[in-house]
Amino acid sequence: MRVAPLLLALLSSLVLFPACAPAPQSASPPVPTTPSPREDPFREARLKMVAETIEARGVSDPDVLRAMRTVPRHRFVPAEFVDQAYEDHPLPIGYGQTISQPYIVAWMTELLALQPGEKVLEIGTGSGYQAAVLAEIGYVDVYTIEIIPELAESAEARLRELGYDEVHVTQGDGYYGWPEYAPFDAIIVTAAPDHLPPPLVEQLAPGGRIVIPIGPPGWYQTLWKFVLEDGELKAYNLGGVRFVPLTGEGVEKGAGQGTPRP
Ligand code: SAM
Repeated sequence: MRVAPLLLALLSSLVLFPACAPAPQSASPPVPTTPSPREDPFREARLKMVAETIEARGVSDPDVLRAMRTVPRHRFVPAEFVDQAYEDHPLPIGYGQTISQPYIVAWMTELLALQPGEKVLEIGTGSGYQAAVLAEIGYVDVYTIEIIPELAESAEARLRELGYDEVHVTQGDGYYGWPEYAPFDAIIVTAAPDHLPPPLVEQLAPGGRIVIPIGPPGWYQTLWKFVLEDGELKAYNLGGVRFVPLTGEGVEKGAGQGTPRP
């Protein structure tokens, strides 16, 4: 039971969230894999955030934690909010949208249970931060869709500038998924519809997972994890969260559809 994370997610999220062989001897100095404090003045703040607000609240997947310790969140927030980049809350990114709370990003990423070689689709690129975290996992192919053209364009530029060249970014209505690249092993939705979009289920590979907030716009929603097992979609209720609404023609046309129950 993830009681503490769920409770905290309810209370604090969201708009409103080798076996080692000896290293060979070398005359050259080792190449650092993370920036030195001088190169990245936010490194200490980022490590502290991960330890105190993510690890301490139950996220334990080592690859997720490594990604959260690596991605420079301060590069994904507007200049006026840089000093808050490593605080555990959402921040405005313009166009009425937000970059999600770091804890929620980490938790939802862990819930995807990503395996090497899998394809993951994100609906709601926003700033590109969640996509960067997924890319930083290092062994999955990342696809992301954003409905607001200006955000899609700026997120793609930011991801390229930071070296996340392999992330596939497109502008469009994520309600319909990305049929051209389906099926996906995992789908993460970072804006809340009032029902589970059928196209996303249709684009799920056998054994695939969807992590999605579902509920009424402007209020609290429920975070669901759906798993496609033996042709059956199993639903797991993970508790209350608060996200911006999924917008667009797709969700409006599909309004009133039922959502599977656990
Ligand atoms: N994942 C983002 C990040 O890391 O910055 C934050 C996501 S923000 C909470 C939700 C995003 O979903 C917004 O950028 C919003 O424009 C987008 N969105 C809303 N409805 C959408 C839709 N139908 N298709 C694609 N994106 C959508």
